Amino acid sequence: MTTSAAVPAGSEGAITGKGTVTDRLVEANGRYAAAFTDPGMDAHPVLHVAVVACMDARLDLHAALGLELGDCHTIRNAGGVVTDDVIRSLTISQRALGTRSIVLIHHTGCGLESLTEEFRHELEMEVGQRPAWAVESFRDVDQDVRQSMQRVRTSPFLVHTDDVRGFVFDVRSGLLREVDPA
Ligand SMILES: [Zn+2]
Repeated sequence: MTTSAAVPAGSEGAITGKGTVTDRLVEANGRYAAAFTDPGMDAHPVLHVAVVACMDARLDLHAALGLELGDCHTIRNAGGVVTDDVIRSLTISQRALGTRSIVLIHHTGCGLESLTEEFRHELEMEVGQRPAWAVESFRDVDQDVRQSMQRVRTSPFLVHTDDVRGFVFDVRSGLLREVDPA
């Protein structure tokens, strides 16, 4: 992610050989669907687990955790931060779709480590409106994982908060390191 509120020039509708990147994705979907067979599963995650992770492009959650189609709910945002909207998704995940366990994954080299709440001020200066959301930047990734675990564990909306574990994914080694909640 960019560390400036400014939009980089030429970033819209990037051309990649033939067509836009979205055209390329739609073409890939055609090939995917051609080989796809209906797995016949319902929407309840097989492993009864919801994973909350950063949106970082270097983190391939399914590959990194050995997850298969239908195994889990995946909730991602910048930083893997437990925002109100993440709590909304987790609440639906648990109460409507039967998940019980929650795995939180931050990672090394996160873009949020190089941002500050000043980002909101820069946005306000640029567009004349201060965003309602916090940037949720952080300096210490372990502490941020602990805070995320705490937000989940203390949510009144969740029914299962006994199996909540937090990790830092190393983007260079591919290894997860568990964060002690204490
Ligand atoms: Zn990140």
